[in-house]
Amino acid sequence: MPTTLSADELIASVPKHLLIGGRWVAGATRRTLAVDDPATGTVLCEIADADVEDGRQALDAAFEAQDGWADTPARERSDILRRAYEIILSRTEDLALLMTLEMGKPLAEARGEVAYAAEFFRWFSEEAVRVDGGFSRTPDGRNRILVMRQPVGPCLLITPWNFPLAMGTRKIGPAIAAGCTMVLKPAPQTPLSSLALARILQEAGLPDGVLQVITTSRPGDVVAPLLRSGQIRKLSFTGSTQVGRVLLAQCAEAVVRTSMELGGNAPFIVFPDADLDLAVEGAMTAKMRNMGEACTAANRLFVHRRIADEFGWRLAARMRSLRVGAGTADDTDVGPLIDEASRRKISALVNDAVSRGARVLTGGTAIEGPGYFYSPTVLTEVDLSSEMLKTEIFGPVAPIVAFDDEAEIVRTANATDWGLVGYVFTRDIDRALRLCERLDVGMVGLNTGLVSTPAAPFGGVKQSGLGREGGRVGIEEFLEYKYVAIPVRG
Ligand code: NAP
Repeated sequence: MPTTLSADELIASVPKHLLIGGRWVAGATRRTLAVDDPATGTVLCEIADADVEDGRQALDAAFEAQDGWADTPARERSDILRRAYEIILSRTEDLALLMTLEMGKPLAEARGEVAYAAEFFRWFSEEAVRVDGGFSRTPDGRNRILVMRQPVGPCLLITPWNFPLAMGTRKIGPAIAAGCTMVLKPAPQTPLSSLALARILQEAGLPDGVLQVITTSRPGDVVAPLLRSGQIRKLSFTGSTQVGRVLLAQCAEAVVRTSMELGGNAPFIVFPDADLDLAVEGAMTAKMRNMGEACTAANRLFVHRRIADEFGWRLAARMRSLRVGAGTADDTDVGPLIDEASRRKISALVNDAVSRGARVLTGGTAIEGPGYFYSPTVLTEVDLSSEMLKTEIFGPVAPIVAFDDEAEIVRTANATDWGLVGYVFTRDIDRALRLCERLDVGMVGLNTGLVSTPAAPFGGVKQSGLGREGGRVGIEEFLEYKYVAIPVRG
């Protein structure tokens, strides 16, 4: 259903306050923080800026609500998620426009994210009623073992700006399904999607105190005391590896359980027997989804030397055909980057690669004007010492490195601290399976540039994270085991 609201009306309709114990409140200091439109650099609106005291109150509300929520029948929790799923889909156009305004992605991609985000609620509404335990005998036959599953308790959920709606539903969905209460801290660049989502959950019947939302410009000050409190039983974080490490250290102090969805440095490997059309389309998806601002973005394109030139010019032709502009325009393929710092970082990475011998096949420049635009870029003959191969580019830049040998490229692909996802393009089934087994990653896209789906366990190995979101295991992250020993006499 198309939106009936203008951008201004839409923004005016979103709550701007903190959600604590079912009430929208301005916060202890009544300070606000600005939300910008990255396509213009102008301020969209001001929202509440939580202080330490607000964080404390949010935690108290989550703690208070926990026991009652855990006792709520699973069917009721499931129905709330199902209703929220339907409301989200019925408001696709509003939520997509809101996301585009605060984050910059083109409307078509924002609509895709709304569907993806909603799907987590549908998936976990189906999982909520399937939580079970176990009953068995000890091997000597004397004792019985009863295994119960219970919610871990109040959770802290921290999300990044790049997928403002889906990163929230990927955590809130399983937490509701498992019976956990929550404090959600969205990224300050893109809080409006989370605030709109919280309002939808209220409409869907989520009881007061189950979900609190605190937006803040001082995440370190507000979050650290919560993790130390002993009341938070679980942190589910999505963001950079750098911040993830800091939070893991804080969680260690109070032995808080964690799920960590961190950064990536995905290899995208194309063998000479691959379907080249498929590989180029796969590269467009894996590189350009979300303007390259995705943890799953293809960060290192390793292409066999026999086809590297052809792959390079074909990819460059596709990249040149993309229209760059404000995400709100219907014909835009590539929106702005999130901020000027991000654009400066990408310019520096491209300059570094070129100074080490890379050739620019297309792009390679920041686009002047308001907003933080960067041209879709393909670099070839990128030297392995280039900085962009060792860090997340997080932008529309595809660096191509030619390779000769399968064993060599597996070693090179694995020579990184990250291990989120890898992409492999080949028609040789033996090689495909060898690569799937040998790549040090949590996910593989085999002849596809897209792995994300709520029905699969999403997550990485090495410094890309701990735990999984989605799939059958997604709810496990929010459940504890309790075992009861029962001796049986006679
Ligand atoms: P980020 O800088 O790590 O921030 C993530 C979240 O953590 C934000 O809400 C941020 O708030 C908050 N934060 C920062 N410092 C904190 C602290 N000391 N205590 C508590 N919270 C703190 O990441 P980002 O730039 O938003 O997102 C991009 C990163 O996320 C990339 O590395 C990307 O790969 C990763 N990512 C991973 C996945 C995955 O599933 N593996 C998915 C999406 C994104 P502030 O903004 O106020 O600092």
